Amino acid sequence: MSVAFPGALVLGYPRIGPNRELKRAVESYWAGQLDADGLEAAAAELRAATRSRLVELGLGREDSSLPETFSFSDQVLDALLAVGAVPGRFAGLAGLDLLFALARGTADVAPLELTKWFDTNYHHLVPEIGPDTDFSFADDRRVREVAEARAAGFVTRPVLVGPVTLLALAKRADGAPDGFVPIQRLDDLLPVYAELLAALADAGADWVQLDEPVLVSDAVAIDRAELRDATARAYETLGSAPRRPGILVATPYGDPRDALPVLAAAPIEAIGLDLVRGRLPEHLDAAAEEGLAGKAIAAGVVDGRNVWRADLDAALDRLEQAGRFSGEIAVSTSTSLQHVPHDVARENALEPALVGRLAFADQKVAEVALLARGLAEGREAIATELTAAAADRAAGAAADGVRVAAVRARTVGIGESDSRRVPYSERLVAQTGLGLPPLPTTTIGSFPQTPEVRRARAALARGESSAEAYDARMREEIERVIRLQEQLGLDVLVHGEPERNDMVQYFAERLDGFTVTEHGWVQSYGSRCTRPSILWGDVSRPAPMTVEWSRYAASLTDKPVKGMLTGPVTILAWSFVRDDQPLGDTARQVALALRDEIADLEAVGLGVIQVDEPALRELLPLEHARREAYLEWAVGAFRLATGGAAASTQVHTHLCYSEFGAVIDAVRDLDADVTSIEAARSRMEVVDELAAAGFDHGIGPGVWDIHSPRVPSSDELVGLLELAARRIEPGRLWVNPDCGLKTRGYEETVATLRNLVDAAARVRAEL
Ligand code: GLN
Ligand code: ZN
Repeated sequence: MSVAFPGALVLGYPRIGPNRELKRAVESYWAGQLDADGLEAAAAELRAATRSRLVELGLGREDSSLPETFSFSDQVLDALLAVGAVPGRFAGLAGLDLLFALARGTADVAPLELTKWFDTNYHHLVPEIGPDTDFSFADDRRVREVAEARAAGFVTRPVLVGPVTLLALAKRADGAPDGFVPIQRLDDLLPVYAELLAALADAGADWVQLDEPVLVSDAVAIDRAELRDATARAYETLGSAPRRPGILVATPYGDPRDALPVLAAAPIEAIGLDLVRGRLPEHLDAAAEEGLAGKAIAAGVVDGRNVWRADLDAALDRLEQAGRFSGEIAVSTSTSLQHVPHDVARENALEPALVGRLAFADQKVAEVALLARGLAEGREAIATELTAAAADRAAGAAADGVRVAAVRARTVGIGESDSRRVPYSERLVAQTGLGLPPLPTTTIGSFPQTPEVRRARAALARGESSAEAYDARMREEIERVIRLQEQLGLDVLVHGEPERNDMVQYFAERLDGFTVTEHGWVQSYGSRCTRPSILWGDVSRPAPMTVEWSRYAASLTDKPVKGMLTGPVTILAWSFVRDDQPLGDTARQVALALRDEIADLEAVGLGVIQVDEPALRELLPLEHARREAYLEWAVGAFRLATGGAAASTQVHTHLCYSEFGAVIDAVRDLDADVTSIEAARSRMEVVDELAAAGFDHGIGPGVWDIHSPRVPSSDELVGLLELAARRIEPGRLWVNPDCGLKTRGYEETVATLRNLVDAAARVRAEL
């Protein structure tokens, strides 16, 4: 390669726009208020603004340091479109219609499945690949973007999901034979990538970035040897292509481990390493050393996933260590910046001490540029900036609330016994006082969030309605939901969660040590964004958080009402969490706050309390070797939160999914009295999986797939319950939907719950 590798780069940048411009444009297009040209123009404008902004922040205009990572929806979708791997059911569609049909479906065709992107909160679409999937260079969007940038005077670096990751994340297309796995199609796919590389080079790209995060993960259905082999073949082929830009293969989200020597041996020019999650190799054989020495290394020392300012001195140390392996070190982010909000400067309401600790995407770009200068010119050249940044970090670390003596004293005092309830058999006896029938019916917590409820919350947030008026409105809603559940004849009632904007933010707003942002939006999938809370200090609970709503609900009825909390792991998983101490320590603080909440719920008479942990599986480390330590603190935090509950208090938990895989033992070890899970679509299969793991507590396998408004008949529900009842004795079997009902409408909710109560009664009668 003749063109030099840039000295500073970011692996990717948020696509949604500082004011969520892309979301607005895409949603207007869907609503028919903007035509295709209008949408393309809005996207081009956003790309242009991004390029200028990145240059303003210190990246080079013409040295390939700017990533071309725009997407209307998802980078995996873009890659599969580029190589034409479109399932047959989408035939006849093209352009934006095809793109959005793949992402969202149409009246006639189901969309691609959506699943989590590695261990992040971003979701990607799942390619469907079969033995007959045709690959062809079908979509040149990225090529046009490179040309568009060139015409405006920028030499950008197009970014694509690499071929190995694309196939590894794909699922087998419908109708493919059993033994088929998509990675078997690698050799057919590579020529298309080669064609794409040539087109990018022709459009003016000096460098291209191929993302291969699958190399850091043990969470894929391909074994490591096969993965190494596929990687070797892929980059031998692409690296030998006659016309191509320089190739950077990036391995974000972790450590490529045994795949690093494979990349080192490949005829590519640069490797991107995540030096936040991964580490520099301690030992390499001579061949790998030699291979690396001949390549540029994009050293990912600035964390692309959290919102904290980097420790610049430590980053420089790591950059110098990386220099042992290659003479050409570029400063990089560890991952794309798509996981963090745009700009801290937009946040006007944050404490100044906290602002000094924060770096969103724009601040991180500036850090990368600064570090590159330090690396090139020596630390002295950036001494002023280093001193200022260190002072800000130190001030942030010493700020009020970061380390609170009382919170720390309490976590130190925790003993084993705090996390152990009396044996389940004794609890069962103590809980008979709840007076529940066999196969008790309940729901997962939320009832439909009506437009009126959302409006009331928005009005309160804007200061347009008083706290009293809001409170009265919520009480009305709670009473309505309680009366409805009584009429339907459910056994354990819920208050319906009308007051919750979000199951984490609600708690973050009420706990010390957390803050919420105004503009800190991050793409979750498609046009969907979330605004994660920031956990910056020691966590404690200044006052009860949910007790009054639950107490009020319980006061309205003679039936048991279930208190509703979000568990410690989920609270951490869906927030930006401080990185100055182990996650397990932070989880314990959150757990203690929840423990107090549970005690207060018990004190006002709640005999059933649910602690939701839908994120238990999400936080599971990608690397096998890190899992045990994670599961230990995650289970420990849940047990600490719930371990103080009386034997007579029935503790429930809820997990959203039905495939437990590596967390199955952890689900058992949570030791909840009742666990509700998704099971409708898999027809209760998960029940066997749990039984095999020795799970013998109460279980509520969901009978209603709440992702769709379809109302299952009472007969259908009886069928599912009979399947479950064959595997679980009636004393342990609960009857509930798959998940909360907040995204459903009342019409289907009432109809289904009526059938659900009826079905439970019919199965009970046969016992
Ligand atoms: N209690 C929550 C609800 O019903 C649980 C949501 C979830 O599991 N994601 O909405
Ligand atoms: Zn759920």
